[in-house]
Amino acid sequence: MTMIGPTNPSRGVLRPLGLDEVRLTDGLWAERQQLNATAVLPHCTRWIERAGWIDNVRVLGARGPAAGRRGREFSDSEVYKLLEAYSWEARRSGDPAAGRVITDWGATLAAAQNPDGYLNTNFGRAGQAARYSDLEWGHELYCYGHLIQAGVARLRAHGSDDLVTVACRAADHICTEFGPHGRNAICGHPEVETALVELYRATGQDRYLAQARLFVERRGTGLLAAGPFGREYFSDHVPVRRARVFEGHAVRALYLASGAVDVAIETGDDALLQAVVQQWQRTVATRTYLTGGMGARHEGESFGDDFELPPDGAYAESCAGVASVMLAWRLLLATGEATYAELTERTLHNVIAGALAADGHAFFYVNPLQQRVAGAAPDPDALSPRAATGVRAPWFEVSCCPTNLARTLASLGGYTATADAAGVRIELITGAEIRTSLPGGRRVGLRVVTQYPWHGQVRVQITESDGAPWRVSVRVPSWATGATLTVDGQSRSAAAGQYAQAERPWRPGDELVLELPIAPRWTFPDPRLDATRGTVAVERGPLVYCVESLDVPAGLDLDRVAVLTGAPPVDAPAAHGAPAVNVPAVSAAADEPPSWPYAADRPAAGATAGQPLRMIPFYARANRGPAAMRVFLPEHRTDRRADRPADRPADRPADE
Ligand SMILES: [Zn+2]
Repeated sequence: MTMIGPTNPSRGVLRPLGLDEVRLTDGLWAERQQLNATAVLPHCTRWIERAGWIDNVRVLGARGPAAGRRGREFSDSEVYKLLEAYSWEARRSGDPAAGRVITDWGATLAAAQNPDGYLNTNFGRAGQAARYSDLEWGHELYCYGHLIQAGVARLRAHGSDDLVTVACRAADHICTEFGPHGRNAICGHPEVETALVELYRATGQDRYLAQARLFVERRGTGLLAAGPFGREYFSDHVPVRRARVFEGHAVRALYLASGAVDVAIETGDDALLQAVVQQWQRTVATRTYLTGGMGARHEGESFGDDFELPPDGAYAESCAGVASVMLAWRLLLATGEATYAELTERTLHNVIAGALAADGHAFFYVNPLQQRVAGAAPDPDALSPRAATGVRAPWFEVSCCPTNLARTLASLGGYTATADAAGVRIELITGAEIRTSLPGGRRVGLRVVTQYPWHGQVRVQITESDGAPWRVSVRVPSWATGATLTVDGQSRSAAAGQYAQAERPWRPGDELVLELPIAPRWTFPDPRLDATRGTVAVERGPLVYCVESLDVPAGLDLDRVAVLTGAPPVDAPAAHGAPAVNVPAVSAAADEPPSWPYAADRPAAGATAGQPLRMIPFYARANRGPAAMRVFLPEHRTDRRADRPADRPADRPADE
């Protein structure tokens, strides 16, 4: 049976269920898939036409001149990523319009491809640099990677056509050009590695796997010239299997790690897999934002050092969120460990869900956790420089993120549930219909009914079963202490950070009910995170919350606010389509700015009673126009002077 989804490893603890096995029915993710279909995909298509990026391919196919080519060196990749999104979407929804774009653009690509399989609008013609003359920055293999992923999506979701043929011919060309007897070289931007392994999985052609393995093994051996950001930028400073942590450009490092996991799985290279597992663990422990965002520095779009996670300076590119989901999902399938699914959930709910505007027509490139000054609303008719404002933009000069979000949302059914020999596991809790076959061809089905992440009740109803026992597992997030699972009227506690499981000879109509405690909670950063020391954040279920300046009441302002953490934050009436949370807040500094923002003494202790300050989900930010925003709020301490015994006799109470 063909698996219809982005990644299908031949080994591992879990088998991913595909788009034909999982249908998102309602809730936050089904709504975003629908928004993707009706708004994001047409929007991306219009902009790719308008920016001239598909015209570049048309002109190449017509043997036209290179002189009028528009866009950056990697603009071909946006065509490919959108084609991948359409391939999933055509299968998910059956929308004939999606199929027409694939057929039309697929024929355009076929006409443009060189007889030897080469395809790139930026190199090789009269007036352009020669093929593969700039592997550091040229992105030719990176573009092929996205072309191949689009081809795999189309092959799995539909079957062979022009797009698939073009992708396979490009892959064959790569194997000839960069194989053991070809150029000993790699691309500045990893991506082709994971794509080649997936094409191997989809076609069974060993040479694609061998080529991917060669690319992974060559990296870190100094084949690329160090540029202004060093070899770390290209993940070429140390071999993958010797690296200790993800470094340099976040998207590149995460795509490479995904490809390395794919190679490790298919070649049985457990040492390589363990190397990536250890890099992931340290990166999550020291280089990951509360939102799941990765990339602390704008310079080099890079990870930064351990514990260097400034909320205002955060880069946390939307594409790094996509790449992190790709990697964590692969590690989940390889190991079966819930921690990977939990990071996937965190990143989806806080980076991916918020990267697109409520109307699907604008996108965040970077996702900082604090916006000190409200950004200027961008011209909806103009290309934006990346990362320029605190509001979403319709399109970018470097427009990697919108199409990356589009392909992820269209294929999200493939990141929702898994199966093993014993049964079905629900990894991403959301309204869904699941039907699959267990070993032996046993047909099973279940329906997930829930208003998660707004509410904590998750009902799993059996819709199909053959009467023999099989297991249903639902992931319990690590914050969900006190969760319970009820089956057949019997309730028991369900351990946080593991899977709540029940195995029965299920009959259609049977139900499991998981109750997750979803009350808002305080979250404190590790003291080693200097940039957020002394602050606190609010989470509710898998959602990180933030304050927008639009919600700050009279008497408070966002720069001076501090919150009282003596009691938990409380639910507030829903606002702007999402549950709000109130926290008690005070003003922690004088109204007037000081002449010098440093002093010989700590600030005086402040008020003990706060007024309610409304917080909204981080993903819902910046949908009401430009606003200042922050996730981490200073914690207001009424005992600030308690650690200065000279000020206070020991027998006096701390609150003076
Ligand atoms: Zn991006």
